[in-house]
Amino acid sequence: MLRKALKVVSWIGAGIIVLAVVVFLAAMNIEVVQDRLVANAVQRGVLAGLDDDWGGDKLEVAFCGTASPMGNGPSAQQCIGVLAGDKFFIVDAGARSAARANEIGLPMGRLNGVLVTHFHSDHISALGEMHLASWVRGRPSKLDVYGGPGINQVVDGFNMAYGLDYGYRIAHHGMAVLSPANAGLKARLINAPETGAVTIYEEDGLKISAFTVPHPPITPAYGYRFDYRGRSVVISGDTKKSGRLAAAAQNADVLIHEVLQPQLVKTITDALDTAELDALSKLLTDTLDYHTTPVEAAEVANAANVDTLVFNHFAPPPPNAIAERIYMRGVKQVRPQGAVLSKDGMRITLPPKTGDGPGIIEISGE
Ligand SMILES: [Zn+2]
Ligand SMILES: [Zn+2]
Repeated sequence: MLRKALKVVSWIGAGIIVLAVVVFLAAMNIEVVQDRLVANAVQRGVLAGLDDDWGGDKLEVAFCGTASPMGNGPSAQQCIGVLAGDKFFIVDAGARSAARANEIGLPMGRLNGVLVTHFHSDHISALGEMHLASWVRGRPSKLDVYGGPGINQVVDGFNMAYGLDYGYRIAHHGMAVLSPANAGLKARLINAPETGAVTIYEEDGLKISAFTVPHPPITPAYGYRFDYRGRSVVISGDTKKSGRLAAAAQNADVLIHEVLQPQLVKTITDALDTAELDALSKLLTDTLDYHTTPVEAAEVANAANVDTLVFNHFAPPPPNAIAERIYMRGVKQVRPQGAVLSKDGMRITLPPKTGDGPGIIEISGE
């Protein structure tokens, strides 16, 4: 009797679920329901974009792109947002990075500038989109773009290519919405020394310095260091293993270091060789001599006595958890505390130090 009753109840339950699915699918075809659901989602997105809790008394890092040009994964190419106080800079602007910066809610309207490490395409190709994303959100001046000798050529080229776009948008939306005075990129030339570092920005407690790294035959190639309220973040730029980088990163809280995993590169070149794609294979093989392996990056972090080592600019971007493990091969043997693999959307927060001990480092979106 009890068994029969349970059977009836379970049939009724299954019937309710089927009915709910049918009602749900039917509702999805009703236009007013579609409009309501989309409006709710859009409103949530717009309000989230206004929620600017970046920086303040903290030094913060947001990854708006972690990939190199290698591979076709979903990650954006090189892009790192650094926020401190009311200041906001982006280091490098590779393909897809402006879209990623918007997606993770970076406050583009108050972007103070883009710092370019060097002029490989995966570091500059989204400069035009960074311009648009910040201009339409009310950036109060032209977009400063910092870089070594060559920056004028890059900035002039983008301004020429996007000049018509600037004009179209001003004509269509009006000068009150898109100020012509704020349209365009403005080159800020940095001459970093061969050794040591040069301060390129110092305001309201935020100091940014630039230093030279070896990425032959590309010169100049720079890394950047950010210091704010006793906390510090260093970004390697593209580089071979470098003592100059270790010197510039001395005692930093966070070192964000580019990495190339030679075993993964070999796996790709083997496949290209089998397919007789010789030019592509050579191109990839050539990259081995101007990047840093994860183990070498760990050695640099040790020499610099940094607290937290973060890998980024993955060559190639790891497509899954197994490839991520390959990136960590040998790292713990050199550096027992290991390293963090950056991901698009990851955020690192460094609140001001309160005592003598090491400061807090919060990482979200791992
Ligand atoms: Zn690169
Ligand atoms: Zn490069």
